[in-house]
Amino acid sequence: MQKVWRWAAVVGLVLGVAACGRAGVGDKAILDPADGEWLTYGRTYDEQRFSPLRQIDAASVGKLGLAWYADFDTDRGQEATPLVRDGVLYTTTAWSKVYAFDAKTGKPLWKYDPNVPGEKGFNACCDVVNRGVAIWKGKVYVGTIDGRLIALDGTTGKVAWEVQTTDRERPYTITGAPRVIRGKVLIGNGGAEYGVRGYVSAYDAATGKLAWRFYTTPNAAGAADGAASDKVFREKAAATWSDGVWKESGGGGTVWDAITYDAVNDLVLIGVGNGNPWNHKLRSGGKGDNLFLSSIVALKPQTGEYVWHYQTTPGESWDYTATQHIMLADLKIAGRERRVVMQAPKNGFFYVLDAGTGQLISAGKYVPLDWATHVDPKTGRPVEAPFARYTNGGLSTQMTSALGGHNWQPMAFSPKTGLVYIPAQLNRGAYADPDSFTYTPGAWNTGVIRAAQGPHARPRFKPGGSDATGELIAWDPVTQTKRWSVAFPHQASSGVLATDGGLVFHSSQNHLVAYDAATGKALWRYDEGARAIAPPSTYVIDGEQYVAQMIGTGGAGGRDAPRTMGRLLVFKLGGTAKAPAYPATVVPPPLNLKLATASKGDADRGGALYANYCAMCHQAGGYHPNLARSPAILDPDGFRAIVQDGALKDRGMASFRRFFGPADTEDLRAFFLWQAAHPPVEPERAVAAHAQ
Ligand code: CA
Repeated sequence: MQKVWRWAAVVGLVLGVAACGRAGVGDKAILDPADGEWLTYGRTYDEQRFSPLRQIDAASVGKLGLAWYADFDTDRGQEATPLVRDGVLYTTTAWSKVYAFDAKTGKPLWKYDPNVPGEKGFNACCDVVNRGVAIWKGKVYVGTIDGRLIALDGTTGKVAWEVQTTDRERPYTITGAPRVIRGKVLIGNGGAEYGVRGYVSAYDAATGKLAWRFYTTPNAAGAADGAASDKVFREKAAATWSDGVWKESGGGGTVWDAITYDAVNDLVLIGVGNGNPWNHKLRSGGKGDNLFLSSIVALKPQTGEYVWHYQTTPGESWDYTATQHIMLADLKIAGRERRVVMQAPKNGFFYVLDAGTGQLISAGKYVPLDWATHVDPKTGRPVEAPFARYTNGGLSTQMTSALGGHNWQPMAFSPKTGLVYIPAQLNRGAYADPDSFTYTPGAWNTGVIRAAQGPHARPRFKPGGSDATGELIAWDPVTQTKRWSVAFPHQASSGVLATDGGLVFHSSQNHLVAYDAATGKALWRYDEGARAIAPPSTYVIDGEQYVAQMIGTGGAGGRDAPRTMGRLLVFKLGGTAKAPAYPATVVPPPLNLKLATASKGDADRGGALYANYCAMCHQAGGYHPNLARSPAILDPDGFRAIVQDGALKDRGMASFRRFFGPADTEDLRAFFLWQAAHPPVEPERAVAAHAQ
């Protein structure tokens, strides 16, 4: 009951800003949607991904079958949450394309392609993914890989307005879903591995006019930005930074995923990413906490002014972002009703904070980790293991890795069980200081030696992701303990959906599974034919409950499974549709090196270039072709056309002319020919037949 009056109070507060009705989605509708709707990324502003629907439950789920499906035109990662309003399902695919379907029949209504230049894909660290749209008052909003925020007419898909939210000359991208809060569209961006300065922007939802911007790192010139963040940097945040590479790179701190609205406290909560470079010694002389990296920051929605922050990883050095899904809930803790913020960031601790103040209530290890022993309850800071800070000259092979104990895949919370369902992963990462570092604008600039680097790019350390596994964990946030879990042999599983039907939906090992939310018992499973990483959503049309999920792996950590063309699967009780099987996957055969034009290039130099510029995408087991098995390396002219002239730029393989020249390119080719003649350490990954 308490929740009801709280909502009523908030609705009264926002009514002046947003007139709403069933015809349009305003704040009121998102605060209190009809049971059968899914109106914003996490269903409601609280982002619990809990649906009150119960037609599909433990007794009926056995009859769940495919109602309809749709195939898409890209084999890159699919991360979108389908939203549903007034019988229309809106989703996005890789390359920021938007689709509207009749949610009952699957009939395509319209589609919109923002025509992102393919070479902009080079700036996306973790694939050209998109996590979905926002809908509000008849419009549909999408952020694009090339940094635009576009408002579409929800009925026709025609552009209503469009703004460039980033400097196109810098390696900014947008992969996250916009959120509309109190009449403003909020959007962040990515690019912290390359070198950008993070921020979140709010635009008027009706006109696209910039309302405010909040930067997450200081102005390098010490000047005012004329932004909402100026005051807090002047008063306290700038003092947490020392001289270092951040002054050139912008310092990172991108807000690439989590944006949540706490309507009770009238606060926007943003999740801030890692630093640039990762290496704190290089970034900031090893000094200072570097606010607001790896923090949850609370802002006023109308002005963007700072209210509070909680930094999960002070002096961030490991890509331990706090961009992961932020969730709000009302929990009874120590006999008191508390409104809390919950997050499972990459660093492996599950945080429960007071939503009004950001004060730490508790932090528990949701995965095994050794980089820190615990979070000090008084200071709220992790107590680091001595080896973790490799910037003191050591090497750390620590849990968790840069892919995190949990990445972007959203969690779900069931108020019925009181449990948070975390799509977790168990992995170990290697970190060491490089002998030297030069910041190269636009290139990978982490300032850390990781796997797949060193002489001839042989792994100096065991690659962080190669033996990684996954686990769906039912976590009790009050006691900070695991209630049940399901293990599987890969990381990067799907996001999670919880329902009042007592079910938890989650995909791993190519299967969507419905678990008993209380016990973890698998009640239903469906072979999706390929790896899914996107979270399912659920809705009702004409009295029937549907479950929808995007299929197709990719993204960070989702690169060890075969690429398949993107697909949307929609289920209902008694569904009998059948989706065609995906093509068989193949292992690319070794090259016939007798067909190669010999190279006079320097393979050692080429190996170093590979480590700096290519390995992140092309290393064995990576998402993009293993070049030691690519016919492209056989011929110097063809190889140069790709690497120097950008022959494949439309597919994301931009020209590297800005970084090195033709002689270097031949050194690279010499290296790949050397690799081709020396079988790789790791077994070759199978790929879909059409993907190479
Ligand atoms: Ca990162």
